[in-house]
Amino acid sequence: MDTGWSADCVKHPIRHLGFGLWFASEPVLKEGESVPEQLLKIGLKPQDINAIVLTHLDCDHVSGLLPLKEVKHIYCSQEEWGHAQKKDVRYRKAFWKSAHVEMLAMQDDPKAPFGKSCDLFGDGSVRVIFTPGHSEGSVAILAYDGGNYAAFVGDDSYNRHSWEELKLPGPVYDEKEMLTTLKWVQSLSKDPACIGIYAAHDGEGPVGTEDK
Ligand SMILES: [Zn+2]
Repeated sequence: MDTGWSADCVKHPIRHLGFGLWFASEPVLKEGESVPEQLLKIGLKPQDINAIVLTHLDCDHVSGLLPLKEVKHIYCSQEEWGHAQKKDVRYRKAFWKSAHVEMLAMQDDPKAPFGKSCDLFGDGSVRVIFTPGHSEGSVAILAYDGGNYAAFVGDDSYNRHSWEELKLPGPVYDEKEMLTTLKWVQSLSKDPACIGIYAAHDGEGPVGTEDK
């Protein structure tokens, strides 16, 4: 899920991100911490990975995509992909220009907060849930083991305070949708079958920009 910062952000962050995204994000990444480098440490090359799901296309989630483009499948929601092809300072097309990105095959799902989800491998083990709000086409991932599951919610919540206090995380594309998504994450936190919720921006401090 997602690809984090590119290794280029260690030495040449402004060149890699452009001044605007660098100024807005200021990446924190040490040498050896990019995803391909961490995979290599456990003996995995990009070709060994079956799928990456991009929760959305903000720079801190996809700046490291191109070194992983040999991964067998790279998925994104149709809504996010469509928005990111338009002119929007939030997105930088250079991050995915030579990658083959496939669209998630969403299906009707009355249990999903926006009525759409995707059974990624067709066996119910990984469900990708359409959860817009932070961006036009954000998704969350539920990974199942038996009857239990872990939720990986990307920027649907920045950390635990987001869903406990229903605080909107960072930049919001659509406030109403964001609140629906956040309430859904909160409902997962009360579900005994949910063994954990993993937000992309961890840490226990107060959530920053939503207070502004
Ligand atoms: Zn984001």
